[in-house]
Amino acid sequence: MEVCPVNVFELQEIAEHPETLKAVPVRAEDCVLCMECVGKCIEQAIKVEAK
Ligand code: SF4
Repeated sequence: MEVCPVNVFELQEIAEHPETLKAVPVRAEDCVLCMECVGKCIEQAIKVEAK
């Protein structure tokens, strides 16, 4: 996902939807809580919380 400044997401094929790619947060520990991804997601499918 191009909006993430620290490259948290990786596009992966998933079995449930083989026709498309899903942005998977494979490096969630690198997140800097900028919230850019939350604002860009048209499906409002991203939720970011600090641990
Ligand atoms: S909130 Fe985290 S995952 Fe989302 S764009 Fe910013 S750094 Fe990346």
